[in-house]
Order: sequence, then C-alpha cells, then structure tokens
Amino acid sequence: MALRQILEIGEPTLRKKCKVVKEINEKITQLLDDMADTMYDADGVGLAAPQVGILKRVVVIDIGEGLIELINPEIIETEGEYVDNEGCLSVPGESGDVIRPYRVKVRAQNRFGETIEIEGEELLARAFCHEIDHLDGILYVDKIVK
Ligand code: ZN
Repeated sequence: MALRQILEIGEPTLRKKCKVVKEINEKITQLLDDMADTMYDADGVGLAAPQVGILKRVVVIDIGEGLIELINPEIIETEGEYVDNEGCLSVPGESGDVIRPYRVKVRAQNRFGETIEIEGEELLARAFCHEIDHLDGILYVDKIVK
C-alpha cells in the first residue's frame, strides 16, 4: 500500500490538461494501485491522476460498487441531466450543487490495455464526469450552480 499526497485547490497542477497514456507499463499500474489506496484512505469515491500530481489521463472510481480503473477515459454518450451536491478531495470540507448528465457512457482502456465501455447512472455518472473533468484541469467549483 502506497499513499500519495492529494493536491489541493490553488495548486497549478490541478489546472493543467493531462496527457494521453500511450503505453500501459508498470509505472501506470503502480499509479493505479497507489491512486486506489489513496482514494480509499481519504474516503473518496473517485480520484484523478492530476490530484496526485501526475498529468496523465488516469482515473479511479469506487462509489461503493467496486473499483473502476480508467485509462484515457472519454465520455461517448450522455442522457438527461440533474442537479446534486458534489465535493472533491482537492477541495476539502466544501461542496456545491452541479448539473451533470443522468446517464453517461464512458470508453476507456483498462490496465491490460483492453478497450472497455462502462455505463453509469446518477452518482456513477456524476463521478465519471467529475473525474474526467479533472483530466482537463476543470474542477467542480467551476460549475457550481448555487
Ligand atoms: Zn475531484
């Protein structure tokens, strides 16, 4: 188990666009392992690589239904929208209402380099959108509606 330090809002790294992962090597699988450890340790439901200072398109999510690892994730379909309260491990102690799609379909690679597609509704759809936003330097605080 290896925990990484979670960067907080104000840190310029969180505002940068992450690079596509071209080769899934041991560095990437170690990053996935460390990110999952760090997310669980912090009681989060998702974590993106830039939050631990790595500008690569890598995300982990677990909304309580098992660990999802995404490399180079892209949203390929969305449906509906709804408002709910959202928080972020990089913005400790705060939350705000954000509009997100109700249902989202994501295409990504897994740690074996296979292309996967995953659909999520409600909280899972929200987590996909929130974490993929991180990869483009976007934080939920940019999208708060009230
Ligand atoms: Zn976040």
